[in-house]
Amino acid sequence: MAKTALITGASQGIGACIAKRLAADGFNIAVNCRGEWEQENGGNQVAEACRALGVEAECFLCDVSDFDACAAMTKAVKERFGTIDVLVNNAGITKDGLLVRMSKEQFDAVTNVNYNSVFNMTRHVGGVMMRQKSGHIINISSVAGVYGNPGQINYSASKAGIIGMTLTTAKELGPRNITCNAVAPGFIETAMTAELPEKVREESMKLVSLKRYGKPEEVASVVAFLASDDASYVSGQVIVVDGAMMM
Ligand code: NAD
Repeated sequence: MAKTALITGASQGIGACIAKRLAADGFNIAVNCRGEWEQENGGNQVAEACRALGVEAECFLCDVSDFDACAAMTKAVKERFGTIDVLVNNAGITKDGLLVRMSKEQFDAVTNVNYNSVFNMTRHVGGVMMRQKSGHIINISSVAGVYGNPGQINYSASKAGIIGMTLTTAKELGPRNITCNAVAPGFIETAMTAELPEKVREESMKLVSLKRYGKPEEVASVVAFLASDDASYVSGQVIVVDGAMMM
């Protein structure tokens, strides 16, 4: 039976790219979309692209910051595909601002989506994987979570928290043959970085040794490795994918 991968926030950007890469690798794909707009303007096309690669794929609507909605999506994906072998916690947002100017709403909005969602999804899918006695969980963190970043106290906190959850998940679920790793991208060309001011882009580029932003495909290929049997003894790691920026 084909294995199944569930990717959160897969209607565009890195998540969409991961979905298509894992489909090319032979996984059936559960494409998570936040709402109907995302489904109609990305999710359906991603699922279609996956099916064109010869696997089964379907969109599942769920705001991953909602604990109960994550339980319902997990149940629906399990019923539809029979197993959940790979979980990629990718959904994320930014609401940047300097620490002393940041509102509580700005802080909570980002931590609810980026951080609480990883607990919500791992909590539910972890149960499925424990019963299967196998699985790979891959959490998309960020260099901001490893090194911090001015103007992103909410985002860097959420991404650092993800690393703590990755390490604990690897330790707790390892005895059930489940791996858990984090991928920490630097600057990747997506809608998230497209909104950065030109000055920030120029300054950040000075730090990147490879002198270019990364492509979503270059994150997806690392996720594909961690989702594969080739990475069966890799767990509890944070793999930085940043073109040699933060060293
Ligand atoms: P993006 O904005 O293009 O995509 C984010 C996706 O998350 C979208 O599909 C969006 O609909 C989805 N999403 C947002 N809130 C959601 C919710 N509540 N429930 C379900 N889905 C939701 O951004 P991206 O650049 O593709 O980012 C993907 C991940 O990579 C994020 O976790 C981001 O923090 C991380 N990341 C990105 C970069 C970068 O440079 N682009 C760098 C480091 C980390």
